[in-house]
Amino acid sequence: MTTVVEHDGLFIDGSWTAGESAQRIEVVNPSTERRLGSVSAASSGDVDRAVAAARQAFLEWSARNSDERADLLNGLADALERRGAEMAQTVSRQNGMPIAVSNGLEAGFPPLLLRYYSGLVAAQPTFTRRSGLLGGQIDVLRKPMGVVGVIVPWNFPQTLAMMKIAPALATGNTIVLKPSPETVLDSILLGEAIAEAGLPPGVINIVPGDGAIGGYIVRHPGIDRIAFTGSTETGRTIAQECGKLLRPVSLELGGKSATILLDDADIANSMADFFKATLLNNGQTCFLGTRVLAPRTRYAEIVDVLAGLAQAATIGDAVDESTMIGPMVSPRQRQRVEGYIEKGKAEGARLVVGGTRPDREGWFVTPAIFADVTNDKAIAREEIFGPVLSVISYDTEDEAVAIANDSCYGLGGTVWSPDHDRARGIAERIETGTIGINGYNLDPAAPFGGVKDSGIGREWGPEALDTYVELQSIYL
Ligand code: NAD
Repeated sequence: MTTVVEHDGLFIDGSWTAGESAQRIEVVNPSTERRLGSVSAASSGDVDRAVAAARQAFLEWSARNSDERADLLNGLADALERRGAEMAQTVSRQNGMPIAVSNGLEAGFPPLLLRYYSGLVAAQPTFTRRSGLLGGQIDVLRKPMGVVGVIVPWNFPQTLAMMKIAPALATGNTIVLKPSPETVLDSILLGEAIAEAGLPPGVINIVPGDGAIGGYIVRHPGIDRIAFTGSTETGRTIAQECGKLLRPVSLELGGKSATILLDDADIANSMADFFKATLLNNGQTCFLGTRVLAPRTRYAEIVDVLAGLAQAATIGDAVDESTMIGPMVSPRQRQRVEGYIEKGKAEGARLVVGGTRPDREGWFVTPAIFADVTNDKAIAREEIFGPVLSVISYDTEDEAVAIANDSCYGLGGTVWSPDHDRARGIAERIETGTIGINGYNLDPAAPFGGVKDSGIGREWGPEALDTYVELQSIYL
């Protein structure tokens, strides 16, 4: 997409429509600071229409058998695959994600998830009969919850949305999706794919809007469940609202994960995997291990290797195939990252490389490596959401585990050692929802999510299906 796009942007009841208000959401390319286009901003009245369409569609969609739903979801996967290259370009132009990453994730994951959940539900009965302890028979039904409000951030807009949409639709729910204002243009491709695949009108509705519209969806009486990914701060607000309403909610929130290098780790020969686990998507990824725990005996050597890694990373326009580090999504996000770099220096950490603005257009920050960081410093405790790594030294494995667990977050992390059993033993001791050995190769077949302030609930895996159904017991 190279031309400026002006689009209605609201996809309600199977049709594109402009919002009730004249307000529009403007999108700017963070690599070039040039305007990409705009869509209508949804108002509360537009959300009302989207929820009504989803409620109406639920009656028919939930009554279909799972094989029929699975066929339509496979059709949606096909339609998204046909748009894969354009989808990756559209996401990268909006949020600065290096195109190599968006080709793999934003183009590849949504169809993969749709096919995976179609396959799982096609084989799944809608009820099981069991013998009771007291002699009778019982049918346990799996019933869809109703209309799911899906609220996602800008960093992986399509993947994060489809992590929710695919299992929710497969189990018979319908959707009201609110993308983040920074990334609304990729939703146009999603809406086109939905129409092409022949999903019944109202099964997926898209309402671009800001946080206030997100809040309106969360509280809407026509919504039965909320699936949210975003910051911990917003997650807390949503949890409070859902608590008052007793509305089921899943929350995928922030992180500050640990990268634990054991004393025999061979990181010089694992640079590509290490980069992915610590700096993917310009550091704008929730699970990254941005606290690097290094044994004191190898501290200087490790800081040197990381400085080399940061300096060797190609910085450039997100759609350039050679780019490893693209821009921050917005001037606000760059300011936030730069604020943490200043804070790190003021707190006495040593900025070894990076943390500067390259001499070019766009909202770039060069990848920064801080040494001499202790785990009590703000740059070790708070989520920065940019290309900034803090290297913390430790003496014993027990101390490494204690430092890793001394965090309000618990989402990702890695342990590095050629001794797999030793690394796995450490991994088990870390308070986190997911963790990798010698790399972080997340996989949709396994549950994904966080503990502590990183969230509540799990997405992915067969387990995700259970989070979109209510169980009903019928005593026969
Ligand atoms: P954010 O919380 O500001 O916004 C996320 C979404 O929520 C946006 O669509 C926004 O418009 C909406 N929103 C804002 N206020 C709302 C409210 N009061 N009620 C309802 N909706 C509201 O987050 P962000 O800055 O856009 O995204 C970055 C954050 O997302 C980071 O903290 C990152 O760690 C987190 N994240 C987590 C995961 C995960 O799986 N755990 C994945 C990606 C990103």
